[in-house]
Amino acid sequence: MASTEKRRSAWEVAVAQFNEAARHLNLPEDVQEFLRTPKRELIVHFPVIMDDGRIRMFTGYRVHHSTIKGPTKGGIRYHPDVTLEEVRALAMWMTWKCALMNLPFGGAKGGVAVDPHALSEGELRRLTRRYTAEISILLGPEKDIPAPDVGTNPTIMGWIMDTYSIHQGYAVPAVVTGKPISIGGSQGRIEATGLGVMYTTRETLHRKGVRMHEVTVAIQGFGNVGSVTAMAMHREGAKIVAVSDVHGGVYNPHGLDPFNLMRHVQDSGTVADYPLGDPITNRDLLTLDVDVLVPAALEGVIDEELAPHVKARFIAEGANGPLTIEADRILQSQGVVIIPDILCNAGGVIVSYFEWVQDLQSFFWSEDEIRRQLKRIMLTNFDVVWDIALSKGVDLRTAAYTLAISRVVEALEARGVYP
Ligand code: NAD
Repeated sequence: MASTEKRRSAWEVAVAQFNEAARHLNLPEDVQEFLRTPKRELIVHFPVIMDDGRIRMFTGYRVHHSTIKGPTKGGIRYHPDVTLEEVRALAMWMTWKCALMNLPFGGAKGGVAVDPHALSEGELRRLTRRYTAEISILLGPEKDIPAPDVGTNPTIMGWIMDTYSIHQGYAVPAVVTGKPISIGGSQGRIEATGLGVMYTTRETLHRKGVRMHEVTVAIQGFGNVGSVTAMAMHREGAKIVAVSDVHGGVYNPHGLDPFNLMRHVQDSGTVADYPLGDPITNRDLLTLDVDVLVPAALEGVIDEELAPHVKARFIAEGANGPLTIEADRILQSQGVVIIPDILCNAGGVIVSYFEWVQDLQSFFWSEDEIRRQLKRIMLTNFDVVWDIALSKGVDLRTAAYTLAISRVVEALEARGVYP
C-alpha cells in the first residue's frame, strides 16, 4: 500500500470507528460533529543546525483533539511518514482511550517528520528542543502533557522537560511523562504499555477458556511496546514464535527467548539477524499460523488484502490503529477476537497519568503500587467493556468505543457549550 494511502486512512479509520459507535449510541448529528472535530491543530516548520553546520528545516505537529474531560495527553512520534492527518487520528484515539480508562484527560498527539535513527545525538537533541519551544504555547501541566511514542524515548522526554522548564525559569516535571526517574519519571512507565497488552490478552484468553501457557504468539514491532509484551507473555508461559522490526523478522516454531533477543537488539540494533531462528518478512509474520497476533508497530498494517490470510484467533492491538476498517470487518467475520487498541494498549497512558499525579504532588509511589493500580484500572474497565459486548451483542471495539464516547458525552452535557 502506498504510504500516502496508509496515512490518509488512519484518520478515515478513526472517523469510521467513531461513526459506528455514534450510530449505536444514537448520538445527534450536531454532537457527533462536535466530537469528531479536533479542537486545535498546530503545524510548525523549524530550523535545526546539523553537525555539518548547515541549517535543515523540519515540520512538526501538535493536535489537541478534545479538552472536554481535562488537559490533553498524548505521545510525540518521530517518524519519516508523520503527517497532520496521522497525528489527528492518533489524537482522537487518545481522547477515547483516556475516557475508556476514566482518566481526567482529553486526547492529543504530536510528531515530527524525521527519521530519528539518521540523526546524531546532538542533532536529535537540538531538534527536540526547538520542536518543544515551537509547540510550547500549547504545553503545560494543566494544558497539554506529552509522552513517548514511536521513535521517542525517556531521554527525549527529559530534553522536553528541560526545555520547557528553562523557558519557565523553574523545574516543571509534570509537563511531560515517560521521563527518566531522576527528574520525576515514574516507576513502571517503560513496562506499562506492554504489561497492559499482556493483562488484557490474558483476560480475553481466560474468558474464552484458553490459558496463556497454551498459546503461540507473533509480535510485529520490537520497540517499547513489542519487546515488553514479548517478555511479559513469555513470563506467563506463552510461546513467542516470531518477532519483527522495521528491518525484518525472526521465526522459531520452538519459541524465542525475548530476554536474549533484547540483549541481541541492544548489540546489533535489530531482531532481523538474530541467529536462533529463521528470517521472516513482516508480511509473513502477520499471516503466521499462531494463536495470538500482536501488531505493535504502526497503523494500517493489516488491510483488506492481508486480512483473509491472517490465521491468528486473537489479535491484541499493541499499536494504535493497526487494522483498516475493511480488515476489521473481514477478521470479525472470520471469528477472530480483536482486543481494540484503546483497551489493549492503554497501560502506557494510565502510568503516564500516575506519573503526572506524582509530579504534581511531589510524592512518589513504589513499583508494586504502580503495578497494582495499573492492573486494577485496566481490568475494571476491561470487565465493563466485556459486559457491554455480551449484553449488546457487539464486538469489543464497538463496546469500548460506545463506553468511551458516552463518558465524553456525559462530560460535555455537564459542561455545556460556551457561551
Ligand atoms: P518504538 O519506536 O519503541 O518501536 C516501534 C517498533 O516498530 C520498532 O521495533 C520499529 O523497528 C518497528 N517498526 C517501525 N516501522 C515498522 C514497519 N514499517 N514495519 C515493521 N516494524 C516497524 O514505538 P512504541 O512506543 O513501541 O510504539 C509502537 C506502537 O504502539 C505505536 O502504534 C504506538 O502509537 C503504540 N503505543 C505506544 C505506547 C507507548 O507507551 N510507547 C502506548 C500506546 C500505544
